[in-house]
Amino acid sequence: MSCIFCRIIKGEIPCIKIAETAKSLAFMDIAPTSKGHALVIPKEHGERLTDLSDESCADLLPLAKRVAKATGAENFNILQNNGRLAHQEVGHVHVHVIPKPNTEFGLV
Ligand code: 5GP
Ligand code: ZN
Repeated sequence: MSCIFCRIIKGEIPCIKIAETAKSLAFMDIAPTSKGHALVIPKEHGERLTDLSDESCADLLPLAKRVAKATGAENFNILQNNGRLAHQEVGHVHVHVIPKPNTEFGLV
């Protein structure tokens, strides 16, 4: 299996795990765009959101909510890209949880 996120789920590639359910896994992004940037992925492989079962889909947002709450960030983005033209680089569904710094201009 060459899918990098499937390999993370199997424990073949290390990650900083945050939380887990029977259907989803949350871990820190390897190249965070802000402090606390995390990813939430389904354990079921699917390239795009439209490839996933309803059950896997339904589990992602509650876990993303838990992760967002745990960061304590007042401001955050939930982002999910599908397809190369939509800036998807890893071909396994993932939800970004991106906390925003608590400053007016977001520079520090
Ligand atoms: P995309 O552009 O596909 O929506 O985002 C893919 C994300 O996965 C990027 O933010 C990237 O830093 C992250 N990423 C890629 N490879 C790895 C990895 O091996 N481990 C972790 N933790 N994150 C990864
Ligand atoms: Zn996969």
